[in-house]
Formats: sequence, C-alpha cells, structure tokens
Amino acid sequence: METRKPHAVLLASPGLGHLIPIIELGKRLVTHHGFIVTVFVVTVDTCARTQLLMKSSNSAGLLSIFHIPSVHISTLLPTTSDIVTKIKVMMQESLPYLRSAISEMKTAPAILVVDLFGTKAFLIAEEFNMLKYVFDTSTAWFLAVTTYAPALDSKAFDEHVNEEKPMSIPGCRPLPFKDTFEIFFNRSTPEYEQFMAMAAEITTADGILVNTWEDLESTTLKALRDKKLLRPFVRAPVYPIGPVARSVRFPATGDLVSDWLDRQPNKSVIYVSFGSGGTLPCKQMTELAWGLELSHQRFLWVVRPPMENDPSGCFFTNFNDNEGGHYLHLDFLPVGFLTRTKGRGLVVPLWTSQPEILGHPSVGGFLSHCGWNSSLESLVNGVPMIAWPLFAEQKMNAAMLTELGVAVRSKELAASGVASREEIGTMVRELMEENEGETMRKRVEKLKRSAEEAVREGGSSYNTLSQLTAEWEKKVFGTLNHLTIVPLLENWINHTF
Ligand code: UDP
Repeated sequence: METRKPHAVLLASPGLGHLIPIIELGKRLVTHHGFIVTVFVVTVDTCARTQLLMKSSNSAGLLSIFHIPSVHISTLLPTTSDIVTKIKVMMQESLPYLRSAISEMKTAPAILVVDLFGTKAFLIAEEFNMLKYVFDTSTAWFLAVTTYAPALDSKAFDEHVNEEKPMSIPGCRPLPFKDTFEIFFNRSTPEYEQFMAMAAEITTADGILVNTWEDLESTTLKALRDKKLLRPFVRAPVYPIGPVARSVRFPATGDLVSDWLDRQPNKSVIYVSFGSGGTLPCKQMTELAWGLELSHQRFLWVVRPPMENDPSGCFFTNFNDNEGGHYLHLDFLPVGFLTRTKGRGLVVPLWTSQPEILGHPSVGGFLSHCGWNSSLESLVNGVPMIAWPLFAEQKMNAAMLTELGVAVRSKELAASGVASREEIGTMVRELMEENEGETMRKRVEKLKRSAEEAVREGGSSYNTLSQLTAEWEKKVFGTLNHLTIVPLLENWINHTF
C-alpha cells in the first residue's frame, strides 16, 4: 500500500551555522521518516563552500534545495549595522520570493520549519494553512533565556546588566552576567528590539525543535515543559531532536590536511578554529600563535586575517575557499612562526572541512569559539575543548561545556579581553598532555556515547522526531498515515563538504 508523504519546507537564514543543521534536519526527515523536503536558503554570497554543501545535499530525490536570490544588504543598511539586524533584514527581504515559490509548488507543503531568524515567514505559513515550527539550532538553555527575557521587568534587567547579578531563569541554571548577551546592555537599541520581537514570534510556533538531547540538558528541558516554570513563557511544546550534526564515517584521504593528520600520533593534535565567520584582533592573533608555539604541542590552525573590534568579522565575507586560500598572505603571523613550527603545526588559510578533522584519530583537542554546531561536532567525536567564545550565545555555550567538565576556559579572556601566550600555552598543555585533559577526555567520551544513544533508533531524540513526524502526518492527513521507517539512503547521508 502506498503511503502519502507530507511535504515540509525548511527555511535557513544566512550563515553556515544555520544552514548546516537545517540541511541535516532535512536529510533526517527524508531518510528516517520519508518526508518530501524543500529547503530554501538565504545566503549572503555564492561562495564555493555553500554551493558545494547545497549541491551535495541536493542529490536525493526527496530533498530539494533552493537558493533564494541574494539580497544586497549594502543598499538597505549601513555597513556598520550589527549582525542580527543584517540577518533579520535579509530574511525580511526574502519573504516575497519564498511566498511566490510556495504558492507555485505542485505538492502543496503542509509544514514550515524556520530557524530562529525566520519567524516572520510564519505569516506565509498562516496564509497557506501550513503548520509552523521553529528549529532552535542552539541549546535548550538558550531557548529558555530567549523566551523568558521578555518577561523580565526593568528592575530585574537593571540588576542583571548594571549590578552584574545573575539572571534567574525558573527551573534552570541562572545566566551569569559574564556570559550574558551583549544585546541586553542597551535596551534602547534596534538590536534589542529585534531580539525581543524574535523571542515573541518564537512563542507563536506550533512547536519548537531544539538541537539538544534529553540527557544533555534534562533539567532545562524539564523546566521548559513545566507549567509552573517556563512553559507559560515558551508557550509551544519543545522537541529535543539532537544532536543534529554532520559526521564523517569515512574520513577523506588524499588532501594536504588529511595526509598531514595521517602522519601524526593518535590524539596528539589540537585543532584551532573559530567557526564560519569568527575573527580575532591582531594582538590576540599574535598571542595565540605564540601560545601554540610555546605549548610544544602539535596543532592544526584555520587562520583568517585579523580584524579589530569585530569578532564575527568574516560572517558576511565572500571568500572563496580555493582562491582565497592561495592569495591569503600570512604576514600577520609572528615573524618566523611558520618556520619554527614546521612539521609540528599546520596552518590552513580560511576554511577546512571540520567534521573530517574532528573525526580524525590524530585530533585530541579543539580550541573552539563554541558555536553550537562546532560544540556538537566536538562532542559527537569525543574531543575535549578549550572554550574561546566570541559573539552571540557562545559565552553561554562555553559556560555549559565548562560546567559539563569537557572544556577549559581562559580566565584572562573574560577579565581583560585578551588571553596571553602563557595562559594559552598552559591551557593547550593541560588539555593535550596532563591529567586534567585525560579526565575531560573520559567525560566527553561519555557524552559521545550518550549522543549516539539519543539519535539511534529507539533513542530519545529519534523517538521525539518520530513522534513529531507522526503528529504532523496526523494533522496533515487526518489519521495516522504510516509509521514506516524508510531505510537510510546510505549513499548520501554522509555527504560533507
Ligand atoms: N566549519 C567548517 N570549516 C571551517 C569552519 C567552520 O566546516 O573551517 C563549519 C563547522 O563544522 C560548523 C559550522 O561551520 O558546522 C560553524 O557553525 P558554528 O555553529 O560552530 O559557528 P558559526 O559559524 O555559526 O559561528
């Protein structure tokens, strides 16, 4: 008997940190649940890595990916606008295209899933009678803070941002001042308004999917479901379906990076990277280079040109991996650094394929900006971290990872904004060769197993997504259509870029 399949539209906002989990969710809906999925991608550019990701994921019959024509924000906003405003404006400008595409689809879509920046598209979902869901590609704790913050009165806000008191969140860990969002500091800015509007829109969803799992954030998830705690603020049911992360089952061979890694001893290399757009100021780059050198450990470092006062400086940069890498001059690194660390360290310009690196047996540590995708990729590969948060909710992620005992964190960075070479060297050694590192490695191995359990058939996240897709089918077709698990399409689930 043939079963009908619901058609879901997924909308990804600019930034690979948003696009990657949306595409991975799309793959899961197709491979595990037999859905038809169309992903719409709002990008800032047409750089090679975005194109490659879209092309490689497009190859399965039930998953299609479309690029919404680029919005040129430079004509709409001052270049000095903050990242949140830029993303929100791009999403707003993309809505007419999305509306027209949905209206022309042969198989009318019944479900719309957007990431946190896509909630304005709910108007389109309502117009076409679609169910509307948010995919929070970060943590449950982030969701708790985001949906609870609008309920705080002025006094509580002042105590948090002026008197530096932790923000209490019913039923879950408070938000320490040092890890809070910068957006909270000035409540008269457009960014603050944008954030609060987004928080309110999230709560109008039919449900919220979160890239976490029961075991990892049980207390917070419980609070989000509890009518006496956070449920009145989040309003919608919460579905922890993570980790939704790219993984590599067959590490690539034959390129410079994997060949170099193949020659290094087991778990001996620290991988250093600040996500898809993170940058450091010049002084910090110098200290990091010296810190890596003084640690005497092996390292693999993805470098970008330094930028002052803009930690997300490359987020909107249109650098093309292949071309950019060749033309990048590394003269911002300390004189003689490359020669002195030759053999022990490898410097890769701009970009590398991160899941392959984190999955390589030679990699034993990750100095990371703690973007949630990077954090999950580290956890699912059992790699302990040095937490080096830069922007957005990364300080919260760093706090959580440190509390879980799988990351160390610089004290100097939080205190003065710059981590010294001595502190960096000490942290790297601690992670790579001392008892503390070994203890963290054991803890992260446990989390790796817990993550595997969650997404395996019968695991908590697998069951949650199965339950949600069954609910969708029921709502769309009126009765429970089928609970058949479509066999994994092995040939493309492992696509990476
Ligand atoms: N990434 C990568 N190669 C790089 C840098 C980043 O493949 O050189 C990927 C990384 O694997 C992750 C994503 O880009 O999936 C970055 O997302 P994250 O949430 O960690 O940070 P963001 O880029 O949003 O700050």
